Amino acid sequence: MKELGYFDGEFITLDTAKVRLEDRGYEFGDGIYEASRIYNGTSFALARHLERYRRSMRELQIPITDTDEEMIALHEELIQKSQIKNGTIYFQLTRGTAPRTHYFPEKMMPHLSMVIRESAVHSDWQENGIHASLEEDVRWLRCDIKTLNLLGNVLAKQSAHKKGYQEAILYRKEANLITEGSSSNFFLVKDGVLWTHPLNNLILKGVTRSIIVEKCAPKFDLTIVEKAFSPEFAYSAEEAFVTSTTLEVTPVTFINRHQIGNGEPGKVTRQLLQAYHEIIAQECSKK
Ligand code: PMP
Repeated sequence: MKELGYFDGEFITLDTAKVRLEDRGYEFGDGIYEASRIYNGTSFALARHLERYRRSMRELQIPITDTDEEMIALHEELIQKSQIKNGTIYFQLTRGTAPRTHYFPEKMMPHLSMVIRESAVHSDWQENGIHASLEEDVRWLRCDIKTLNLLGNVLAKQSAHKKGYQEAILYRKEANLITEGSSSNFFLVKDGVLWTHPLNNLILKGVTRSIIVEKCAPKFDLTIVEKAFSPEFAYSAEEAFVTSTTLEVTPVTFINRHQIGNGEPGKVTRQLLQAYHEIIAQECSKK
């Protein structure tokens, strides 16, 4: 099987799923989501994804329906039923369905939906690096919540895509500071030091970012500076890369017309990618 869905208690094929017209996720983007990876038939870093999922629920005041144990069981069931060994599970929770009002109607029943798919693998991007564009960050001021409202990210990625680039690096215009990628966190290496935006309301706390900062970088005794920097600072870096569940660690060799370092994936980036792959191999060894 290449894909399988789950909606409100039932496993379904994607074409049979029916969304209710007045689902607030559909009308307002009133919901949250996560995307986790499956390697060798095993979920990777699922506990971290579930922790962020709970936080997003709390921030949007969506009541808890399924426990962590139930969510883990659903992940395992999707993997087992679809027989997908290397894939992605996208799951989202909307506040529920009710006649349209901006405030939260009473007695809402959240809708949980999930999709498992085989992963699109971009090993050439990891080997050769990607070209990114610089785009203005026009998103709201709660980018730390993983909500369904992604238009700021979507438009930035589309602008990069139209230029033939693979990712958009976002910057806040008034402050002239880079925040993150349109669907990734952004890092650079300058004078041997690893730089990335601090965790605050302007970026998503990426699961991959956390693993790089907490587990991979310490292996190489890298100094990490969690401080915002300008696009000009990034252009003068020796190396740059983005991290995400899908991209893992992917070198960025150009931003607009600016070549980063010598235009090839850097040493530190390669080391961190390898360390990340080792952690995956440990957690998701073949069954
Ligand atoms: N920032 C944004 C805006 C994202 O959409 C993503 C991808 N979910 C990330 C960062 C990276 O997060 P993660 O490592 O948890 O996939």
